[in-house]
Amino acid sequence: MELTSLKDAFIGLDLGGTFLKYALGTADGTIFYKNKIPSNAKKGGAAIFSAMFAAVADLLKQAESSNLKVKAIGCGSPGAVDFDRGKIIGNTPNLRDWADADIRGRLSSRFHLPVWADNDANLMALAECRYGAAKGYRYVIALTLGTGIGGGIFIGDELYRGARFAGSEIGHMSIKYDGIPCNCGGIGCIEAYASAPAMVKSYIEKLSRSDLPIPKTVNTELVFAQAQQGQMEAISVIDETCHYLGAAIGNVVNIFNPEIIVIGGGVADAGDQFIAQIWQQTQKYAMAAALRGVKLVRAQLGNNAGMIGAIALAADYYKLSAAKQQE
Ligand SMILES: [Zn+2]
Repeated sequence: MELTSLKDAFIGLDLGGTFLKYALGTADGTIFYKNKIPSNAKKGGAAIFSAMFAAVADLLKQAESSNLKVKAIGCGSPGAVDFDRGKIIGNTPNLRDWADADIRGRLSSRFHLPVWADNDANLMALAECRYGAAKGYRYVIALTLGTGIGGGIFIGDELYRGARFAGSEIGHMSIKYDGIPCNCGGIGCIEAYASAPAMVKSYIEKLSRSDLPIPKTVNTELVFAQAQQGQMEAISVIDETCHYLGAAIGNVVNIFNPEIIVIGGGVADAGDQFIAQIWQQTQKYAMAAALRGVKLVRAQLGNNAGMIGAIALAADYYKLSAAKQQE
């Protein structure tokens, strides 16, 4: 079997609660084509697989017209993913009927290509380590702030998945032992306090206690915009969010003593002031020795990180398996 050459390409799928993002790229991180379609998350497993099949078919057609040969598929999904088998473990709250979905089995039998699947936050972390904000670092914590809070952990260049592939769920670290219940079944998780929906909920509660009207559409962009204008309710939501995140990240720093922490996801787009405020809080919770030299930075690859990470995963493991077969 030949090893990867320039013409070899890889497919990256990034499954989310709203969109399935997909791209065609090479092992060096170049993206040739990308697109997104509804992920059908609320319609259930069969519809989600239909979206995936359509995405891969589109990419194979694109590859053919660009003289690229697709060698493997990488796929990121929310939830715990059995990396050895390419299958979801148990339920995922935002995807209906996605329990135990056999991503590798379904995609490889249809397209006759090798398939690797991993947790979406792990792939965002992989992309940022390889091509983005954490390039060149070996001890990395990545957090995605959005509808949920995802985590990815690199220890000495290696993605840490846990003994049964369910680790690195930083979003489900409890920061209040008697706090509010979380979607995961836990209590007081950072996701229940500092995710985008949690910020929105807290903002609406604060508005309803004030004389201010509650706008029809409230999202985190609005909260940040109002804070910029000096509105106390919005400022206090952001202060609290940074405080929660700082406490969680401080714990993570104490446990992992990373070199760098990368914050991505939609909420991180709020800007550098937000990141600086999280860092200020983090310093209150982390021990001096663990905190020394640590950097807290914004992710660089934005919305593309999941797809780029999925392509990198497919390229890495394709090369590994090709090398193994040559031995
Ligand atoms: Zn939780």
